[in-house]
Amino acid sequence: MQPDPRRIRAVARRLRHEQGPFRAKPRLSPLDELIVTVLSQHTSDANTDRAFARLKQRFPSWEEVLHAPTEEVADAIRPGGLAAQKAPRIQRILAAIENREGVLDLARLDELEDAEVEDYLTSLPGVGPKTAACVLVFSLGRAAFPVDTHVHRLVRRLGWAPEGATAEQVHRVVGPRVPADIRYDLHMALITHGRQVCRAQQPRCGGCVLVDLCPTGSGR
Ligand code: SF4
Repeated sequence: MQPDPRRIRAVARRLRHEQGPFRAKPRLSPLDELIVTVLSQHTSDANTDRAFARLKQRFPSWEEVLHAPTEEVADAIRPGGLAAQKAPRIQRILAAIENREGVLDLARLDELEDAEVEDYLTSLPGVGPKTAACVLVFSLGRAAFPVDTHVHRLVRRLGWAPEGATAEQVHRVVGPRVPADIRYDLHMALITHGRQVCRAQQPRCGGCVLVDLCPTGSGR
């Protein structure tokens, strides 16, 4: 099953028309974006922002985060949820970067090709393709298409991937089919649509602007 790029563009246009102009997220350094993405797992944007702000306030440098007692890091990021799991995960990532780079800085990723950045990031402990794609698109300005939980659900409902496709399969198969110039925009639009209309439980197909482009909605 290969989604047609023209159909993908049609979905992107409809969603953008409904949601208003595309707004890029504030651009962070690659390392900041990597840690924000870890913090964002299983929580809202507002809680992620709060946790990240508290972490930066409590520990002005990544070296301090790395060498702090894990409970103190967990305490700082508690508003983001799952602090007991995220704190050691962040410290493991920082330790691996310091070990490889000699410094806690990933600015040199900007000089690498997309695939090299993805390989580097996914070789870090607990970092998967979605997180790597977030760093690529949000921090480095590359044409990546992160497949988060909303994108994963919508892509399957829209018939762009089989029902049983994993997020990683969607990343590999659907990502490259999305025209490069709309990947960032469509990622953001699908997330908004997934939160407001095509929710996990009881999607509102009756009021959905994609209903005629969606095999799931039109079959209801
Ligand atoms: S028609 Fe229904 S299933 Fe399809 S995208 Fe819209 S809300 Fe989701």
